[in-house]
Order: sequence, then C-alpha cells, then structure tokens
Amino acid sequence: MGSKDLKDTLSGIPFLSAKIPYLDKKGNPNFICKQVTDYMKDKGGRGDKSRFGDLIPCHLCTKSIRRALMRVHVAGHLVQQGLDAVDPYTCGYCGRVGQCSVSFKDNSRRGALVPMSNCSSQYDFRYKAASTFSANNKSTNVPMLCTSCGLCIWKYNAAAHFRTAHVTDTVPDQYTVTTEEVDALKFVFKA
Ligand SMILES: [Zn+2]
Ligand SMILES: [Zn+2]
Ligand SMILES: [Zn+2]
Repeated sequence: MGSKDLKDTLSGIPFLSAKIPYLDKKGNPNFICKQVTDYMKDKGGRGDKSRFGDLIPCHLCTKSIRRALMRVHVAGHLVQQGLDAVDPYTCGYCGRVGQCSVSFKDNSRRGALVPMSNCSSQYDFRYKAASTFSANNKSTNVPMLCTSCGLCIWKYNAAAHFRTAHVTDTVPDQYTVTTEEVDALKFVFKA
C-alpha cells in the first residue's frame, strides 16, 4: 500500500468524538472502514476484499485504480470525452469499445438485476446503489435493458444505441444522465 493509498484509506475512516475504545452502546466496535464493508456487501458477505480492493490498470489512461472504483473512474473518462461521442459498445467497467460483453444473470432473486460480464475490470456492485446518483456514487452508468429491443446496454451508451438501432424511437427518460452527475464526474476526474 503506497502512502497515497494509505492516506485515502485513513481519510475514509470516520472521525469519532467518543472515547477509546470506540464501542457503541451494545459494546460493538464502531471503528469500521466503510469501503471494506461495502466490498464485503458487494461480494454477498463473503468478504473477498482482495478482489475489490486490488489495483487494476485503467485501459484509458496510465492510472491504477481500485477495482470497485473503476466504474466511476471510467465514467469520468466518458464524460470528459463527451457522452454524445460514446460508442454504443463501450464497456462501463473498463471503457474499452467492443471488447466486453454484458448481460443479466437470470437467476436473480426477487427480480433484482445482477449484471454479468467477461470484462477483466468487472466487479459485483449493488445494482440499486450503483444506479442511484449520490455523494458516494457519482456515476449511474449501469447495464440496463433496452426498452425497445430488450438488449442489455450500459446507460451511458443508450443514446448512441438508440441513434444507431432505433432511429425512430425517442430515448426514454430512464437513460438520461443528469447535469448534476456530469458535473460531479468532471470534478472526480480532475482529482
Ligand atoms: Zn483512467
Ligand atoms: Zn470491459
Ligand atoms: Zn435496443
């Protein structure tokens, strides 16, 4: 772990005003690294930290990024390129064009959408959280089903997909990327 990573990790630990040993009323430890907890949740509780905390190379720049942060990092690249210029076959995990497949697992419980991909930058994210814009999730680029043909497409590719595959259809609102999101991603990518 480099010093910058360590700094990032430390800055992710919440500051608590309670006295040592940081126990809650029930005596459970309060001192929790949220990112690691999220990786564990993403992995269905199996806690495969190495897979989600591992640094992997970005295919669009020279940076190494933690796997679980790559989707948002790539979204930053796509916004910088301009979402109007996105190719309909751009992979939301790695940003490469025409290299990776994406679909939904059909054994999903209670209708939950669980994406699957052969991308080397793939990781299992929580679909609902990833598709909702928030301070912790600055990109809602997730695989979605095309309302016109049923194909699994990344949200950021939807406009291009409609432009090429469904010329006469209007792009439905659910594929709209808000200005707020675009602005947040511009900021993320600069940092
Ligand atoms: Zn990059
Ligand atoms: Zn990919
Ligand atoms: Zn379609």
